[in-house]
Amino acid sequence: MNDVVLTGDRPTGPLHLGHYFGSLANRVELQGRYPMYVLIADYQVITDRDTPGEIRRNTTELLLDYLAVGIDPARATIFKHSAIPELNQLLLPFLSLVSVSELRRNPTVKDEIAHSSQQAVSGLMFTYPVHQAADILFCKGTLVPVGKDQLPHVEVTRLVARRFNERYGEVFPLPEAMMGEQPLLKGLDGGKMSKSRGNAIALSATEDETAALIRKARTDFDRHITFDEQGRPEVANLLTLAGLCLGRPPRELAEEIGDGGAATLKRVTTEAVNEFLRPIRKRRAELGEDEVRQVLAEGNERARERAVRTLEEVQGAMGF
Ligand code: ATP
Ligand code: MG
Repeated sequence: MNDVVLTGDRPTGPLHLGHYFGSLANRVELQGRYPMYVLIADYQVITDRDTPGEIRRNTTELLLDYLAVGIDPARATIFKHSAIPELNQLLLPFLSLVSVSELRRNPTVKDEIAHSSQQAVSGLMFTYPVHQAADILFCKGTLVPVGKDQLPHVEVTRLVARRFNERYGEVFPLPEAMMGEQPLLKGLDGGKMSKSRGNAIALSATEDETAALIRKARTDFDRHITFDEQGRPEVANLLTLAGLCLGRPPRELAEEIGDGGAATLKRVTTEAVNEFLRPIRKRRAELGEDEVRQVLAEGNERARERAVRTLEEVQGAMGF
């Protein structure tokens, strides 16, 4: 089978190390081997907040992050929801394929509701995983490089594809999630590292900002550093971060730091992160905003052509 890669992010703030080790590294690795679509999921920003906020700014920043980590617009189609009406229209038939109780059961949706600052939970919060099925299936995506929180959503997509095919004939392949080296990187507060939860190390942060964030991270009172994910989660998390950036096992780093205590642990982590991100940050600073907006305009055009063909096929299969 000819694989197609689809993945994306919400333009809710700068990308962070969780994105890198959860998904971005795999994207860079897969591009060129398969057709790849990278989605800026702008309509999904309003799942857990009332308005899109600084959507234009955040979209440009996301593009800068993509190009800085090495996503190559010559090999990947970068596009946004709001530019592709035909993709969004797939939501209608797809919504008819899932039940309300299936939507209510989604564990990631439950977690996001718990972290949302909204007074009331919107209908979109429950239905956006089906919108995500449209994201993946509009280009007949088969490989989806994502973090662990996205697994239930990829399951929804598989369900939608399977039911569509059963009712209307074979149109869609069943996609597979592909998890990265670190499917769930924790933030500096111990919860999932998230753009919207103030606990992330942004790829684009300065070295000083990075140092300040790591300085504030919680540790514990035992001076002897060990890697114990259950017993000492805060210390283990810093060791994990440093280990990922250095390409070394966290346990080995713990042994080296030994009696150096939290201060040494934080110094080692800060240096590892800053060293790792230096070339990415340098590339980011060299990119022009006009250049990245042009990349999006071209990607939107290519994605739209693809979406038009799929919508025609869907409407044909349904007998419209
Ligand atoms: P927000 O808080 O605004 O939802 P986010 O940090 O969760 O932001 P998303 O845009 O929702 O980022 O997710 C984009 C992709 O990055 C998804 O594939 C998701 O699984 C992955 N991802 C996000 N955070 C992490 C993390 N901490 N560890 C691994 N992967 C992650
Ligand atoms: Mg998220």
